[in-house]
Amino acid sequence: MSISLIAREIKESATLLINEKAAILRAKGEPLIHLGGGEPKSKAPISAILAANAVINSGEVRYAPADGIPELKQAIIRYTEDFYKIKVAPENVIASSGAKQALMVALMTILNPQDEVIFPAPFWVSYSEMIKMCGAVPVPILPEDGTFYPRIEDIEQFTTSYTKAIIINSPNNPTGAVYSREFIRDVVEFAQKRGIYLIMDDIYHRLVFDGVEWVNVFDYAQELNEHSKIIVINGVSKQYAMTGFRIGWAIASKKLIEVMRILQGHQTSGPSVVMQKAAVGALNGVQSQVEALRVTLQNNRNVMMERLAAFNGVRASKPNGSFYVFVDFSYYEKDSRKLANFLLDKVRVATVPGVDFGLDGYLRLSTCGSIKDITEGIERIKWALDPDSPNELYIGLRKLVRDWL
Ligand code: PMP
Ligand code: GLU
Repeated sequence: MSISLIAREIKESATLLINEKAAILRAKGEPLIHLGGGEPKSKAPISAILAANAVINSGEVRYAPADGIPELKQAIIRYTEDFYKIKVAPENVIASSGAKQALMVALMTILNPQDEVIFPAPFWVSYSEMIKMCGAVPVPILPEDGTFYPRIEDIEQFTTSYTKAIIINSPNNPTGAVYSREFIRDVVEFAQKRGIYLIMDDIYHRLVFDGVEWVNVFDYAQELNEHSKIIVINGVSKQYAMTGFRIGWAIASKKLIEVMRILQGHQTSGPSVVMQKAAVGALNGVQSQVEALRVTLQNNRNVMMERLAAFNGVRASKPNGSFYVFVDFSYYEKDSRKLANFLLDKVRVATVPGVDFGLDGYLRLSTCGSIKDITEGIERIKWALDPDSPNELYIGLRKLVRDWL
């Protein structure tokens, strides 16, 4: 069988893979704790559900413009005014099948083979693979100072004549780092000076904690005109707990959006109209659910940090946003894939190996589960790695775990 040279190089999404493994174990009735998944457990907003049902019930669900229905574009325009403080036209907006597709189609629009794309590491698993799918070269940059906060000097150092774009993801998946105002200012200035595209993946921007500020790129970039090289990616998946609805979007210059529209027209003919209506429902509906989710996630993060603090040998820096904690387990095992498999096999706790985010020795733990999942998940991991340490896990569970072995 002949597989293309590009396709051969593409790794499976580790985040989707763990979700699938978890679903299989759950279906078998295994007492799994899923600390792998990157999706809130709450229900989608009722306004989204009603809007989707209304269009389904009408029975008239047809092809629509490839770049999104006008109603959704209007809702995204309002959202952009609210959060980015800029006015954009419908021609500056494209709705896609998830932020994932918006990002992919943006990369396909700007990248030539051999172009390089810089992004801070650790990074979301799909950046490197999407860039490779365009025949281009991913350039992850791990901050030299050992933090999860890149400095502009790090980015400058890796910029070459091939550098076409920089991707910034704040709050970050997997570290939860929220980048400072100075960094965003510097990166905008740097990208503009060097004529490099700047892609802001803001999918977690409303999920920040303790009053930490998320910085809007347009505080420093000019409003979108035909020369603008800023591309903003966002969507409903995370903030409205609508991951399965698959609606995201990009905001960019009219010229870029026009090309993205053409490409997307050949890929999917545009996202599902039913789900676009649902997204309109979420964006135009009551917003209190987003704040409720943010508060829950902040609380979950606190509980997870407390539990980790009592875990001998592990290190984790406190995330200021998103719903992940990126934990250094190298004291116990340096091969994160081996460790994640071991934990899944031995104590049925699902995690995502750090190596897939560009840093081995770490595991990404999700805070989307219940407090019980978080506490019990950490205690099970502790028991698996350090059986002699004091453990709050009740005796019954120890017995249960032994019975599987
Ligand atoms: N960017 C980041 C950083 C993410 O974690 C995700 C996770 N899904 C996405 C983009 C894509 O989101 P969507 O579900 O809208 O495709
Ligand atoms: N982004 C989420 C995660 O990192 C969902 C899965 C995916 O799209 O990668 O877990």
